[in-house]
Amino acid sequence: MSSQKGNVARSRPQKHQNTFSFKNDKFDKTVQTKKINAKLHDGVCQRCKEVLEWRVKYSKYKPLSKPKKCVKCLQKTVKDSYHIMCRPCAYELEVCAKCGKKEDIVIPFNKEPEKTENSENNQRANHRRSCKRNEESDDDLDFDIDLGDTDDNQVD
Ligand SMILES: [Zn+2]
Ligand SMILES: [Zn+2]
Repeated sequence: MSSQKGNVARSRPQKHQNTFSFKNDKFDKTVQTKKINAKLHDGVCQRCKEVLEWRVKYSKYKPLSKPKKCVKCLQKTVKDSYHIMCRPCAYELEVCAKCGKKEDIVIPFNKEPEKTENSENNQRANHRRSCKRNEESDDDLDFDIDLGDTDDNQVD
């Protein structure tokens, strides 16, 4: 029979549970939505990027089911919704892949940090196999001790 100290300590009332912020994945937690939310709008100008982000935010972004025709090379190479040009064309002409104007590109196509990171991880994974990491994260343990073993110390 231990008094439930843990519950008593929680005296702060929750204020304003419903701070309004629109989150589309609140209503639709499909993989597709997650994918779209994680999408990087590269190769477009600031204005187009904002438009794309707006569409994503309000669930108006519709991914392409099949590649669209590029206005430059006339191949069906456009894989991004609302883009009028494929990546190689936009990159070569240094224009926005969505509106086709010569604007400043927010995130250039050639920036692909993920790739290098992956190959590096693979190399390190092999190394790690031989020496298992010994350190356990003791963050959780500390937290438990603070709550339970108060040792006559008054915890405020
Ligand atoms: Zn093209
Ligand atoms: Zn644009």
